[in-house]
Amino acid sequence: MAPEIRCKGTTRDGKRCKAPPRLVDPSTGFCLSHDPQRRETLQNAAQQGGKAMARRLRTQRLDDEDLPPLDCPHAAAAWLEIIGRSVATGRLSNRDADAVTRAVREWLKAHDAGEVADQVEGLKTQLAEIKSGLRKTTTMEVVK
Ligand SMILES: [Zn+2]
Repeated sequence: MAPEIRCKGTTRDGKRCKAPPRLVDPSTGFCLSHDPQRRETLQNAAQQGGKAMARRLRTQRLDDEDLPPLDCPHAAAAWLEIIGRSVATGRLSNRDADAVTRAVREWLKAHDAGEVADQVEGLKTQLAEIKSGLRKTTTMEVVK
């Protein structure tokens, strides 16, 4: 059995880092947050004015719970707002944002089509009621 690899880094309060062995890089002996090489990369990126890049390395991707269920046009608007904010803060790439925006637009189109179909059904029912009403009126007038 391979010996358990523990991170060589220490936490802010001076204790040994408790990162699980699967997060420790065997070649460096450090976990991701204590890896000096990675820290340097982050610092260089920031120093070179690549702050956006460093932020991208640090920030997490969008999670499922970040987005409300897509079940009404208001939710679709919320999605677009979140996508815009995520692109602006570097949480989402332009490419991913494009793909999600396209999906939301398709959903809206499908939703609108469903709404229109429902409205047409409603109008058909109303028309049938009006027609039968007219027939009754006509009949009554004929009777008069
Ligand atoms: Zn560590």
